[in-house]
Amino acid sequence: MLAKRMVASFHARNNSILSSIAHLSVDVLTNPYWAVKPTPLLCNAFTAISSDLTWIRQSDKPYKFKIDYNVFQEPIAVSSLPQSAYSTNESANLFLANLLERKYPNATCIYTDGSVNMGGVGCSFFDPQANVKRQFRLWDESSIYSAEAYAIQVALKYVLDTGAAESSLIIISDSQSVLMKVKSANPSKKMSFLEAEILRLVGLLRATGVQSRFIWIRGHHGITGSTTADSLAKEATQLPLRQLSVFPASDLNRSIKMQLREDWRQMHINYHAGKSYIRAFPNPNTRSWTANMPSRSKSFYRYISRVRTGHCVTRSYLMRIGRESTDLCQQCLEREDAHHLIMTCSRFVSQRNILFQRVAEHVTSPFNLEVLLTSEKIDVYEALVHFLSECDINL
Ligand SMILES: [Zn+2]
Repeated sequence: MLAKRMVASFHARNNSILSSIAHLSVDVLTNPYWAVKPTPLLCNAFTAISSDLTWIRQSDKPYKFKIDYNVFQEPIAVSSLPQSAYSTNESANLFLANLLERKYPNATCIYTDGSVNMGGVGCSFFDPQANVKRQFRLWDESSIYSAEAYAIQVALKYVLDTGAAESSLIIISDSQSVLMKVKSANPSKKMSFLEAEILRLVGLLRATGVQSRFIWIRGHHGITGSTTADSLAKEATQLPLRQLSVFPASDLNRSIKMQLREDWRQMHINYHAGKSYIRAFPNPNTRSWTANMPSRSKSFYRYISRVRTGHCVTRSYLMRIGRESTDLCQQCLEREDAHHLIMTCSRFVSQRNILFQRVAEHVTSPFNLEVLLTSEKIDVYEALVHFLSECDINL
């Protein structure tokens, strides 16, 4: 994962290193020498993401220094509707219409939206006064944040190019994160190409006498213009792919992370040992099974961990390590493992009735030991530990 992120950040920042990696990667793919040697990590990373590199841009010079300093001197106005405006779809519509009529009667309003849908990413803007609709299919790996920022950027560019606004422009977006970032932009903060471009365009519009202001609205609250922009953006995800813009390298992180998780899952599933554990818990997790539970005694964790992994001190285990001559339960003459002791052994019928009564409230029957363990519920685990202590079973 780190190698991929490193290749992404070399791109455009340090071209000589990137071209060396590219050369070496070609060698790796064509030279029989590498057939018996481990491939350098950076070459694997380069081969995996080289087709995405044309989509990302990072600058050697921070983008904030590429904008006219004047832009930062006048903060960008971002407002939002009060919570009460959203009580119904009609009220949100009405509130926004009133606000625009009352405070900004001569403004040109443009709705923007971004969408990630069925593997594609798209964005759009909609100018209801002029009935102008534009749709853009974006890079498949671009984040929803970038899609929203790109939509705002192209809307500003449209106004600048066509003179669609006389003196006042209002961009209405449902992306709080982009608007907050733009609002709080200042020369001491980092910014991506897309954010810098928004600020630059706002500055250019200001120079032509057009003041831009942003309004944040909640998405999917039936605001007419926003609904139109939303369906345009969804449609745009299925347009043919053309390269319209570049995106920050960090947009690749999501897919790099997902790939890493998938590799981890495959490694977990194909691991040579612990087959019964892997069958019960096929998805490896970054959080421990105890993470969502209130804390319990040491023996609670010991018992549950042993039952979950199948490493219990039972006759079948003792026979495997040479401490017992038989793996059969003395009473039932069946193989004695955790499943036998907890679910079937005839020595513990009355205790088991209590156990089953207790767990029946938390798991749907019929259940087996695996169902109890994979439920990962504290009440079920507590009932199990209670059963073990009542039966005097020391796993
Ligand atoms: Zn038994």
